[in-house]
Amino acid sequence: MATYEDLTPYEYLTPDEGTGRLVNVGWLGRGSRFGVGAPEPGLVEALLTLAAFRRAHVTRGHHLCELCERHPGQDALRVPFEPAEGGEVSLGNGEVHVPGPGGFVYAAPTLVAHYVDRHGYRPPADFSWNAIAAAKAHISTWEKAKRTLPVGAAVHGEVVERWTSGLVVSTRACPGAEGFVPAELYRPDGAAVAPKDFPRDGDPVEAVVTGHAERGRRILLRVGPA
Ligand SMILES: [Zn+2]
Repeated sequence: MATYEDLTPYEYLTPDEGTGRLVNVGWLGRGSRFGVGAPEPGLVEALLTLAAFRRAHVTRGHHLCELCERHPGQDALRVPFEPAEGGEVSLGNGEVHVPGPGGFVYAAPTLVAHYVDRHGYRPPADFSWNAIAAAKAHISTWEKAKRTLPVGAAVHGEVVERWTSGLVVSTRACPGAEGFVPAELYRPDGAAVAPKDFPRDGDPVEAVVTGHAERGRRILLRVGPA
């Protein structure tokens, strides 16, 4: 993985339009020199929260930690994290973006959670405080989503991502909260859907809340009228 000094301008992937000015934090590799110390209380959990639920610039491949002397196999680095889907979060295939002051945004590899936790890396203090605040904001968005969209509520949203397991849907009522339509509820009659009829990213979705998954923090939906 490319390594960069903290607080240098971001250049690893092309910044999204409208993301603002991206600044590097935590791009460590073999031979990197970095400050060490005890992390701010809650920082590791906050970084895992952002890696699990607010991942940006997702890549297909995985980077491994170059600071670890050896790796258990060449698989992605997976860290136990109870709130995430499957009870763990895999690090090394994306970034966490943390808004900083003055309109710029810190961009760190998701591995930053591991660097702090296992290698004593001490990120710039402002990054740490803002990461903790961003994780708290994510959790209150989720708590608010559960109150705003109880079971049975109608949801107007749009397709954000498509998986073989189902559709990820944005919800207009709760920006920042994620809805999920399991594949079997997208086809309530069990009939196969022809590929040409698959919804596309951005397609509108009218759905009803069927539950709330604490793991993965998703509002579960079925498509159709209330
Ligand atoms: Zn490591």
